[in-house]
Amino acid sequence: MDPVEARAASRESLIEEIVGGTRRFHQLPAELSAEEKASIRREALQRLKGIDLGDVGHFSVDAEVASTRHCENFVGVAQIPLGVTGPLKIRGRYVRPDEEVFVPLATTEGALLASINRGCRAISVVGGAEVWVEDVGMTRAPAFRTSGAEQTAEFLGWLRDNEETIRQLAESTSRYLKLLDIRAQAVGTSVYVRFRFASGDAMGMNMATIACDRVVRDLIEPTTGVTCVALSGNYCVDKKPSAVNFLEGRGKRVHAEVVLDESVLKKVLKTDARSLVDVQYRKNLLGSIAAGALGYNAHFANVIAAFFAACGQDLAQVVEAAMGITCIEPRGPEGVYMSVNMPDVPLGAVGGGTALGTQREALDLMGIAVDDAEPGAAAMRLAEILAATVLAGELSLMAAFTSRDLARAHEELGRGKLHDG
Ligand code: NAP
Repeated sequence: MDPVEARAASRESLIEEIVGGTRRFHQLPAELSAEEKASIRREALQRLKGIDLGDVGHFSVDAEVASTRHCENFVGVAQIPLGVTGPLKIRGRYVRPDEEVFVPLATTEGALLASINRGCRAISVVGGAEVWVEDVGMTRAPAFRTSGAEQTAEFLGWLRDNEETIRQLAESTSRYLKLLDIRAQAVGTSVYVRFRFASGDAMGMNMATIACDRVVRDLIEPTTGVTCVALSGNYCVDKKPSAVNFLEGRGKRVHAEVVLDESVLKKVLKTDARSLVDVQYRKNLLGSIAAGALGYNAHFANVIAAFFAACGQDLAQVVEAAMGITCIEPRGPEGVYMSVNMPDVPLGAVGGGTALGTQREALDLMGIAVDDAEPGAAAMRLAEILAATVLAGELSLMAAFTSRDLARAHEELGRGKLHDG
């Protein structure tokens, strides 16, 4: 058998072994390339299920990187349409007011980009969104088990007395991680120790987890005798909406605001101040209270999910980032002041999915480049752009409610009744 035939025979037998259940998806020979492994898994799935995975197997992503750093049992890609909104004017610390920012967004929801784009225009016409971002820090809170009140009190005292030793060990795990503080909460025989870190330009969840693991295993457990039950005790709080994150913040806490006069409201947004304020009160405030919601906003999640998908952020963190408050109040003759406040936005300019091809290009489009001379600045710029984009999305959707355009826009744009452009 020549080498080509031998390779084909071996590929065929690997596929048949997967189909027959004697080999699992991750048990493919290490000498095969990531692309070959993905192709074998796809072929096995096609035979098993009688389906076609041609689109899944059509990709530009680096299979070696994707399969070793991002996605085990790699078979290909799930594509999401990517669009652009803007130009958007932003007055922040990291985005200059004379810049024109274009924001890439990935979504399958027709009408979303058209709506956000309208919000960008209204904001830009009046000179841009004023934004500011606080770098609250990434949190991780291991859960410890004590024997009762006496050991808990001793443990809390030990944590207070040894913060500097903990800091040195935690910070030795990364070039960029800085321990900001430690706050503990005791409940019966459980103690949740919430570590808060600055993580430079990275979102920081892996960095914080690695640092906590080192501190727990090498210092806290051997010295105190108190057992760590779970490295994440659900008091972090990662990927769950929570009151503690709402109040204390997590990742970046972002704010954006704009003042709009009567003319912009009328010409760009087809609305007026009185209607906007009324919808804000009855929908975002009373409606959210009646529902017991943790988000007093119209659709932060829509903008954040599309933004995160486009630029390589952790999509599961949308559930916490989408908490927050939209305000609209009367301002001047027939104008409004509008703001969005988001206390818990985990995001980063390096790490996670940010180095993947399309995600890196999306970050490039927004001018997100890590600068070692100013660690953290790239992530702060990214947060400023997200803040202004969320404001644009809120503004346009709230206006659509007042003009009763929501269903019509979705019918026309979401069901393909209008042509692009
Ligand atoms: P990461 O990709 O794990 O780590 C960031 C890396 O970038 C580190 O190696 C860091 O250096 C390096 N780096 C280079 N330049 C940097 C700069 N300017 N600022 C900061 N770091 C810089 O990313 P991460 O942000 O810590 O974690 C994000 C990932 O965690 C995502 O993939 C997310 O899905 C995942 N995640 C993990 C958990 C968990 O429990 N582990 C939970 C949720 C999400 P150093 O090596 O010196 O630190």
